Amino acid sequence: KKLGIALVGLGGYSTGQLAPALQETKHCRLAGIVTGTPSKAESWSSKYNIPDKNIYNYSNFDSIADNPDIDIVYVVLPVSMHKEFTIRAAQAGKHVICEKPMALNSEECKEMIAACNKAGRMLSIGYRLHFEPHNMEVMRLGQKGIYGRITSIDTANGFTYRGDPNAWRLKKALSGGGALMDMGVYSIQGSRYATGQEPLFVKATEEKTRPELFKEVDETIFWELEFPGGLIAKGKSSYNNSWGYLRVKAEKGEFELEPAFSYGGIAGRTSKGQMNFPQVNQQALQMDDFAQCIMQGKATRVPGEEGLKDMKVIDAIYKSLASGKKERIV
Ligand code: NAD
Repeated sequence: KKLGIALVGLGGYSTGQLAPALQETKHCRLAGIVTGTPSKAESWSSKYNIPDKNIYNYSNFDSIADNPDIDIVYVVLPVSMHKEFTIRAAQAGKHVICEKPMALNSEECKEMIAACNKAGRMLSIGYRLHFEPHNMEVMRLGQKGIYGRITSIDTANGFTYRGDPNAWRLKKALSGGGALMDMGVYSIQGSRYATGQEPLFVKATEEKTRPELFKEVDETIFWELEFPGGLIAKGKSSYNNSWGYLRVKAEKGEFELEPAFSYGGIAGRTSKGQMNFPQVNQQALQMDDFAQCIMQGKATRVPGEEGLKDMKVIDAIYKSLASGKKERIV
């Protein structure tokens, strides 16, 4: 049996990645859509053969509760809408995948986790790199200490924003923040899964070269995460630089990925040479794994709690920017 997924929000990521990936999945399928745009409803319905009864808008969405074709709701909306639609989906009795960054702040993440627990539904975050072989190798090398104790981490993620100056990503009320929320979350995750540990403190600084564009949100942020034992993981996020790497040094060697976080073309090396892993459809594997977790009653490796942990770091980074001091991650 294939579980039915309904995508909520048919923007760039749903159109370019998730819907195509759902043509390759083995344990789930694109069964429904939720959109505020009638013309998208029409084109998606004919392209993906979605029956009218499985098409919803944001107001009638809650009646998805009565639709047995839909097992999982996948929230792919601006960040400010993640909490509302995750909670409404869980209350409608559906399992939920919510895109990154999980929500505007860690308080919202806690509410989302509590609502899914209360409804007895599973919640997962769209952390596709947990299904990507090079990133999984970094987790193994770092967490198992294959090269000994980690002595430093250096990671960065960003792109040069040339998009719409009026897009939701640049509006704080909709995005919660700029490149840190959108791109930095991968570097924070990377530092956490390379070590298998949770950072205790963070100190951050920021830089803005295009203040007219980034009026409300951060452009480039630099941070230092302090892990138990004193390890420092340096990170940076940007809407003004094309970055995407994760570099780890340890006592007996080193390993790194670059590009580290993209949909494809991921490359890595260790002190022993090039990594040799295939490129995979990350989104297809991520959604199939969640479907199997639901069917087999197993925990997902990327639950809401993972999103919450990253959001706690993000909250502390913004706090550090405001205070100018090192802040505890709570
Ligand atoms: P997008 O702007 O392309 O799409 C957003 C969708 O939300 C659009 O269909 C838009 O119509 C709809 N929407 C509903 N209400 C809206 C409002 N008030 N303002 C603006 N749009 C509104 O964005 P996207 O790139 O598809 O990103 C959506 C989510 O997916 C974000 O959380 C983003 O971080 C995440 N994402 C994840 C990845 C990944 O690799 N995991 C990649 C891209 C995006």
